[in-house]
Amino acid sequence: MADAVQQIKDKLSIVDVVSQYVKLDRAGSTLRARCPFHTEKTPSFFVSPDRGTFHCFGCNQGGDIFTFVEQIEGLDFKGALKILAEKAGVPLVYEKREVKDERDRLFELMEAATIFYTARLSEEAKKYLKARGVTETTIKEFRLGYAGSEWTELADYLKKKKFLDKEIVDAGLAKTRSTSLTTGNERGNLTDKFRNRIMFPIADSAGRVVAFSGRIFGENASPEAPKYLNSPETALFHKSRILYGFDRAKVAMRKVNCAILVEGQMDLLMSHQAGWGNTVAVSGTAFTDDHARLIKRMTENLVLALDADAAGIKAAGRAARAALAQGLNVKVAQLPEGLDPADLILKDSESWRAAIREAKDIITFLLDVLEKHSPLPDRFRRSVEMVVLPFLSDVQSPIARAQYIRDIARRLEVPESAIEEALQKVPTTPVSHAPTVPLPQKKARRNDHALHAYSLLIWEEALPKPHFDPAIYRAQLAEAVGESEMEKLDAIPELERERMRFSIERLFGASQNVARDAEESIFMLHEERLRHELAAAALALAAAETAADGGVQTADLEAKVRLLTGKIAELHKKV
Ligand SMILES: [Zn+2]
Repeated sequence: MADAVQQIKDKLSIVDVVSQYVKLDRAGSTLRARCPFHTEKTPSFFVSPDRGTFHCFGCNQGGDIFTFVEQIEGLDFKGALKILAEKAGVPLVYEKREVKDERDRLFELMEAATIFYTARLSEEAKKYLKARGVTETTIKEFRLGYAGSEWTELADYLKKKKFLDKEIVDAGLAKTRSTSLTTGNERGNLTDKFRNRIMFPIADSAGRVVAFSGRIFGENASPEAPKYLNSPETALFHKSRILYGFDRAKVAMRKVNCAILVEGQMDLLMSHQAGWGNTVAVSGTAFTDDHARLIKRMTENLVLALDADAAGIKAAGRAARAALAQGLNVKVAQLPEGLDPADLILKDSESWRAAIREAKDIITFLLDVLEKHSPLPDRFRRSVEMVVLPFLSDVQSPIARAQYIRDIARRLEVPESAIEEALQKVPTTPVSHAPTVPLPQKKARRNDHALHAYSLLIWEEALPKPHFDPAIYRAQLAEAVGESEMEKLDAIPELERERMRFSIERLFGASQNVARDAEESIFMLHEERLRHELAAAALALAAAETAADGGVQTADLEAKVRLLTGKIAELHKKV
């Protein structure tokens, strides 16, 4: 595995990787961007192509391509490894079974189940999907499958593949049969969770299957069974953090700088087919802050395309508040009433495209809907106060907010100040920002020159092509500051060292004066130290002279003072 990591690092530059997620601007020899890990207006996120690392001075996150992908995709190391290996075209050879951890086993199990279901997608199921407009390509790409009517088919298959009962249950694919039900079938003590269903695998952002959603299908299906059944929460699946189709929409979301949110699998598949590869879906859950954060990593613009019925509008409202609170710009696509996106696309994909293109921002959307449905001005005013103002309080941009206030004031025919006053009274929802990493505790302030010179040293030491020989510089610096100070500097932890390297890199940029600065730093430090020693010797000499028995000492100290004075003079001659 260590080999693969190195191969990936050789093939992918940090710029290749980071620029897929954030727009980098050149700033000297480094590249700069607004940090994807915390909210900021001025860029404090730096990338060093030479050293293959990134660092944010705002939230203090930093590291290499693996750390970056882990953090931005919300993955563990293995997930990041998979993404980067694919990008680099480096095959991953997995270690033997015994050393794999539980999560790996679950991922493998989910993959085995996906293969099992896809192989069983019946002709009738395909016919049904095609009638609903899903193409053969989409069926294959999204790996749609089928769970038959047998009670233990999947569990039996997985057991044959050497998965344990516990693993199958932990993956959410089977339940332990209660004893009263065992009479019907003696083959095992597990029953499959999904039966008589068309299966939609749900993947994490690295494309690994973590859950399923099953739509009821087949003549044996019980009429009481729910239309859609989702995997339960498992070690791999946290529904509030996973969006259906996210792994396939990532590139498109960044490319067109916009994401479309629909509800449910069919809407998603149809929207992808209609050319909106930037569509993601919530399935069986409300749109959460975590979902909004996931989208925010790819784009700041979100279009909600939920059903046009009352429930859909309510859901859009909830989703919009979560999205606004995360700083997303939210628009709403107005669909003809009574048609969900899948139906609309099947009927007329052009009107779907138009609905997305002409999506209105959420506040205008709400104002329009309310104005239409409130014939009396008084009623309209009240609903604006109750429905629209809470949204307005979530809008993060002061400019956008001012524009909305103007629009609302115009529609209600009241002064803007009245809207502002009403807005003050709206209870605000706690805005949860991306998690911030606590800054390391501030250390006692060291000699600034020493710190500067040392930063320069460790920066040069990390550069593939240093400006001067760092080994010589290290020796000079050690001599200039003294061994004990050098030891202290060498003990600075790596995260802080990385911050120091980036500070220096920012300072010098593409400047050619690095070597001269290094020389000057050494000179200053050296002189500083000599002067310090001189001052100490002079003080000691003064003390010795006033003491009664200081005679012997006085001579030694006088010699020392002369020596130091000479050294300082020599130092100045050299420069
Ligand atoms: Zn940051």
